[in-house]
Amino acid sequence: MIRIYSEHITNRLRYIVNHLFAMVLNTDYQFVESIDDAHIIYGTQRKGNAFLIIPNGLLSETDVRDFKITDIDFWQDQPIFFTQKEGDLPFDIFAASFYLVSRYEEYLPSEKDVHGRYKSDNSLAYKNGFLTKPMVDIWANMLLEKLRTRFSDITPIPPCYRFLSTIDVDNVYLYRHAGLFQNIWKLLKSIRNKNLFLNQLTVIFHLKEDPYFTFPKIEKWHQQLGLKTHYFLHVGPWGKIDRRCFCVKNNIRRILKVIGISSDVGIHISHRGAFDTVQQAKEKRILEAITQQTITQNRFHYLRFRLPDSYQDLLKLGIKEDYSMGYADQLGFRASTSFPFYFYDLKKDQSTELLVHSLPIMDVVLRKRLQLNQQEAIDEVKKIVQHIRQINGECVILWHNQNLSYIENWEDWEIVYKAILKIAK
Ligand SMILES: [Zn+2]
Repeated sequence: MIRIYSEHITNRLRYIVNHLFAMVLNTDYQFVESIDDAHIIYGTQRKGNAFLIIPNGLLSETDVRDFKITDIDFWQDQPIFFTQKEGDLPFDIFAASFYLVSRYEEYLPSEKDVHGRYKSDNSLAYKNGFLTKPMVDIWANMLLEKLRTRFSDITPIPPCYRFLSTIDVDNVYLYRHAGLFQNIWKLLKSIRNKNLFLNQLTVIFHLKEDPYFTFPKIEKWHQQLGLKTHYFLHVGPWGKIDRRCFCVKNNIRRILKVIGISSDVGIHISHRGAFDTVQQAKEKRILEAITQQTITQNRFHYLRFRLPDSYQDLLKLGIKEDYSMGYADQLGFRASTSFPFYFYDLKKDQSTELLVHSLPIMDVVLRKRLQLNQQEAIDEVKKIVQHIRQINGECVILWHNQNLSYIENWEDWEIVYKAILKIAK
């Protein structure tokens, strides 16, 4: 049990202490009323043998201020900010962790991308080269080591590393139920490619499985390795950026037959529904009617969300867990932690019940955004998994069913997916 003393116990301090000690370090902790009982003093007054961390003031505030962090220092080769000259740590670990996990910088004015998303290159982690490291988890473990050398009664039980493969289903089929006009258009486009042309015809006439219907092999690989899968299903409206097939009800039912009705299924809120609560509620109702389950998990299609509005919307919708916390163009830890964390609503200055999972690895980032070849992709994933294993965190990967198909040159990437499963499981 780690005992912490602070003169001012604010919502922010309670929140980040809980994340660092309970979620990341799997350690019991409590705030104590007497400074004499403390292992850690979060304040300016030194007392006895207690470990002193000097506050920089951020956790005593209740609003969001527009300020820039320009001074990045290093502590045992790891980047730090909110540095302090006094105390037993060279920085305010609680304030720095809170800044990153609460996504404070995403509340500040910044240029958004064409989809209205926060841009990765605006983030402190990207600008300072620590996006691919779960920095908050690393700091927490460094702090724990310091505490253990000072106090023999701190004996934590390390958490267990967890791996989760998640599949986004934007399109169940490429050709089937795509509609007459779309199929004619696709046939015309592939007329010069004999193999593609014939393949499309055989699929349309039900002589061959649709290339995007890859669920049987995904299930087979996962079962062989003893893995459970989460599926996020798009049931939103038809559109250029949204799904391209009709008959959503029958299509989803066919997936459920393969993956089993008891699988973890979440909603994949559409691009059009991202900022539209009426549309979101409609999509949730559709998926619940098809699956006959209450849907409590979400990932936004295109990772199209903004803080705090999107997460406030999810809470109103009855969503308990979100898996969108990654960037669509970079690998790494958007919130600098690999562990699930509760969404802290900085506008209301309070913690919420929405549990957010980090998303450090995604198929299209590896191949299309970073333009890596297969071996480079595997090597990059290995580095990230190694960071997560060192702190016994949670490793979530995102793949698309359509990117395990035998067309559009994704067939060569099947080996990458299978290699990642083996590396990360
Ligand atoms: Zn999607």
